[in-house]
Amino acid sequence: MTAWRRDIHAHPELGFQETRTSELVAARLDSFGLDVHRGVGKTGVVGVLRAGSGKKSLGLRADMDALPIQEANVFAHRSRNDGRMHACGHDGHTTMLLGAAKYLAATRAFDGTVNFIFQPAEEGLGGAQAMLADGLFERFPCDAVFGMHNRPSLPVGSFAVRAGPMMAGGGFFDIKVTGKGAHGARPETGIDPVIVAAHIATALQTVVSRNVAPVETAVVSVTRIQGGDAYNVIPQSALLGGTVRAFSRKVMDQIGEAVARIATGVAAGFGASAEVDLNWGFAPTVNDPAEAEFAARICAELVGPGRVERNPPLIMASEDFSFMLEKVPGCYVNIGNGEGESGCEVHNPGYDFNDRALPLGAAFFARLVETRLRAS
Ligand SMILES: [Zn+2]
Ligand SMILES: [Zn+2]
Repeated sequence: MTAWRRDIHAHPELGFQETRTSELVAARLDSFGLDVHRGVGKTGVVGVLRAGSGKKSLGLRADMDALPIQEANVFAHRSRNDGRMHACGHDGHTTMLLGAAKYLAATRAFDGTVNFIFQPAEEGLGGAQAMLADGLFERFPCDAVFGMHNRPSLPVGSFAVRAGPMMAGGGFFDIKVTGKGAHGARPETGIDPVIVAAHIATALQTVVSRNVAPVETAVVSVTRIQGGDAYNVIPQSALLGGTVRAFSRKVMDQIGEAVARIATGVAAGFGASAEVDLNWGFAPTVNDPAEAEFAARICAELVGPGRVERNPPLIMASEDFSFMLEKVPGCYVNIGNGEGESGCEVHNPGYDFNDRALPLGAAFFARLVETRLRAS
């Protein structure tokens, strides 16, 4: 598995461009004896493995894409593709699922169907939605679906599993404020969109503090503000942009309404107007409590209950496995990638997936299948 992982690491591909990676995955699944389906969600691959005559089915999902980052590592398996890097460990995720597929295909000590889902374009390009739009769960029905992401701050040999909300739903907003351009020395002849944008940016801070219930967790960050090109010109328009995060669809809707209301209302108060565009790119990742319990039990059998963190902090980042979990109950698990020297955070140019985690991740998937689809 280490050789597979380093080969994938050396050849990173961005979302929906994973042609080498998905071909490598498909060829390997084929060689293990799985029924292979290419092109599910553009560059996605599904491998189907059946044993016995059981009707139960499971989905196991890994992501395959890399990031537009220039790798800073100098080890032998560093990226060969300029400006592309497996800086989120999806090379490891793909390898662990391949390892489980090879083992389960060779042993077939289960009764039912396992769908190995290799997803493209997790990093914000909509790979999960593309697979769902291609009929993922209609063509490959799953009673439950499981996925895994490495976590750098967690020691190798540890897992973290959380029931209920785990990772935030996330989105981006753009606000265009339109006023009336004028000479900078004669503001009374125009409507200044810069001052309106400044008031909107300030007023948006009340969405979390005044509209969202204090027991909920949410973020509204204004991260961009642009307007004007000259010292002596009041511009015609100004732009604001930012990101929002929340852990339930209900709070996401509340935030969306509040951002639109405040932006248009504040602008109207100044005699300007505002157009608001808010896109939720990610749903919140919510683990089914029973499936989380089951996944935690499998982890505990592998590494001992003391190395399974059952109440890890909420993660404000987002993950598109969330869209699969909205269709089919399941659980997303974190596997330790190591602390200290190997504890470099994901999306950092010095990151590398920890090969010592490979057998644990593969064993998690294999044991999960053999337990859930137990052959009688
Ligand atoms: Zn990532
Ligand atoms: Zn990732």
